[in-house]
Amino acid sequence: MLLKQAFSPLVDLIYPPRCPLCGEGISEQRGLCLSCWSELVIPGEPSCATCQRPLGVDAGEGDGMICAACMAAKPRHDGITAATIYNDTSRKLILAFKHGRKIALAKMLARQITARLPELEGEWLVMPVPLHRLRLWQRGFNQSALLAGEIARLTDQTLLVDGLDRKKPTPALGGLGRKERARVLSGAITTNAKHAYRLKGAQILLVDDVMTSGATSDACIKALRKAGAGTVRIACFARVLDEAL
Ligand SMILES: [Zn+2]
Ligand SMILES: [Zn+2]
Repeated sequence: MLLKQAFSPLVDLIYPPRCPLCGEGISEQRGLCLSCWSELVIPGEPSCATCQRPLGVDAGEGDGMICAACMAAKPRHDGITAATIYNDTSRKLILAFKHGRKIALAKMLARQITARLPELEGEWLVMPVPLHRLRLWQRGFNQSALLAGEIARLTDQTLLVDGLDRKKPTPALGGLGRKERARVLSGAITTNAKHAYRLKGAQILLVDDVMTSGATSDACIKALRKAGAGTVRIACFARVLDEAL
């Protein structure tokens, strides 16, 4: 939060209002041009009742349909909210956000996520997927923490930025199989002992920028459940829907 506040005026100064993806001039700093907007893919209906994965239109109608992945293994999470389906445009947007230091994009991405969230009844803790401190030091900010901060503000819920801790740096998980990913992540993510009392029985919104295989969020949820967390929903900007994963 503090980082965001510190950077924001600087960002506005360095980047005049242009579409962060194609450079087209726009009226407002925190948006995209129309043609880039139209390239974003919003998850459609019908969708899986458990993980909200869009199902084909020929999947039939009615509530309670479950996708093949959830059918094969009951997921740890209690639902996934994705603002977009991962594609070239959302990838570029995330890259601009992550590596272009366009922290102002956090507001825009968080608005897109929040718009698709179900109503958060009662009290929720909004928690980012943690970044290892080495990575944090290299990048200067945790992109998921920025999103979580904005989502907490927009939903009037509580941000818990350091409820989870990434104990060891993990390599990119791309190209690894399901078992390999779980092995690499094993013990990498734990809860922060000083917040243990807040996690017990808590409703948690776990925030990530991109959800790829779900292995990382799964490791987070495993740690949260161990700490006694109740409901854990995932919220991300872009969800990769690749059956090959
Ligand atoms: Zn554009
Ligand atoms: Zn599902």
